[in-house]
Amino acid sequence: MKRIYMDANATTPLLPEVVEAMRPYWMECFGNASSIYLDGQQARAAVDRARATMAEFFNCHEAEVVFNSGGTEGDNTAIFGLLRPGDHFITTAIEHSAILRAAERMAERGVKVTFVAPQASGLIDPKEIQRALRPETRLVSVMLANNETGVLQPVEEIGKITAEAGAYFHIDAVQGAGKVPLDVRRFGCHLLSISAHKMHGPKGIGAMFVRSGTPLESLIVGGSHERRRRAGTENVPGIVGLGKAAELAMHSLEDGVYNRLAKLRDRLEAGILELPGTGVNGAWDGDKRVPRVANTTNIWFDNLEGEALVIALDLKGVAVSGGSACHSGATEPSHVLMAMGIDKTRARASLRFSLLKTATEADVDFVLKVVPEAVEHLRAISPVAAGTAG
Ligand code: PLP
Repeated sequence: MKRIYMDANATTPLLPEVVEAMRPYWMECFGNASSIYLDGQQARAAVDRARATMAEFFNCHEAEVVFNSGGTEGDNTAIFGLLRPGDHFITTAIEHSAILRAAERMAERGVKVTFVAPQASGLIDPKEIQRALRPETRLVSVMLANNETGVLQPVEEIGKITAEAGAYFHIDAVQGAGKVPLDVRRFGCHLLSISAHKMHGPKGIGAMFVRSGTPLESLIVGGSHERRRRAGTENVPGIVGLGKAAELAMHSLEDGVYNRLAKLRDRLEAGILELPGTGVNGAWDGDKRVPRVANTTNIWFDNLEGEALVIALDLKGVAVSGGSACHSGATEPSHVLMAMGIDKTRARASLRFSLLKTATEADVDFVLKVVPEAVEHLRAISPVAAGTAG
């Protein structure tokens, strides 16, 4: 059966160039980058090349790049590595669980935490960050792009506010990386986390920008890898794959791939919105469009269960994600949509469509054919539509 994958914000496939770049580092050039003989030097040279690419990707110095295992580790490192009991930490209610759960743990350990709520549009108002600041605020962490709505946050403005207050600023850029240009100097951040598997690189590898002089304690201790900021033998094939993915992402940004993708996304969105009882979460602020990454749209469908629609679309060959997450067997509506003030029923009936950068017009045509069929069928049989579901 034909399958269309529209869940790029969950993960992406490796591009062939990435696989090719990684291939030698599994077998022929398998050395440990810390060994001084030739095999080790080959591995070290590959890590150094990837580090140079990442420095270009972030617009920072090579010494400010730290390789790690991905977005969760970067987010955890920022929080556990900087905060101590008595500190105040500001983050937002729409962050990924890698930030939220780490913040909750620090709250149990005597860190005061403020979760800033978004506006109905999904945007964080920088003035709310300003209002939340206290003399003891040590760290502010705000995501670049939200994983569920794609809404791009005003990180530059937040960076200025945080700098004036003398606090450290971390950006979870996992969903923005490769979709919009990153520039840590312009953003004014001290720390920024990214993950390779969201940008056509391998899973389990990521990188962090750590501004020189930032007193970040390492999460993992052991050897003196990564200038003592992250112990553990380097995942050389992974690092090479991340470097290649970042290089290709920089080309895509220059080649107008994302303008094409935004047009495809807009056509998909407009096509689905022709169905009655539908709307977009996080696209409008009054009559102004909210800035979003080019590949994402989050759509609500009245009178049906989002989870049922995810399954129905899967059976028809389309992979998308629901606006809810499964916690211990119970389906909870998305914390992001709820924080935006969307009611539980509508949050449960929301789906995220996130296009791969390789998506085609034919993919969109196919999805526009099967979504109305699935929605009409489910509405016809849905207990929600019949008003019997609680
Ligand atoms: N931050 C955001 C915004 C994400 O979307 C994700 C993954 O979904 C993560 C962090 C975690 O990244 P990783 O899967 O590399 O641990």
